[in-house]
Amino acid sequence: MRRLLLLIILFLIILFFLYLPELFPLCACCGKKKPRLFFRIHRAVSLSPGYKGCRSVCTKCCRKYDLNDLKELDRLMQVSRKLKIDRLSKDL
Ligand SMILES: [Zn+2]
Repeated sequence: MRRLLLLIILFLIILFFLYLPELFPLCACCGKKKPRLFFRIHRAVSLSPGYKGCRSVCTKCCRKYDLNDLKELDRLMQVSRKLKIDRLSKDL
């Protein structure tokens, strides 16, 4: 009986880690982990488990950068990358 209980606990721990990215997604914009409640965009992009499998943007970043979907996030990231390269090349 005790062994069964241990198995159940182990199972629950594994389940917890599997669903951790669902419960606490990682914001692709500010790189912070927050509870699911604070996310506006949360979408699975691949079959791989964990944080690689989905992309999310928190409500704060959505409001800050005026994002409505992942396409706009990609555009924002391209622009910010370009800006960074421009700044680096100016420094040189
Ligand atoms: Zn964010």
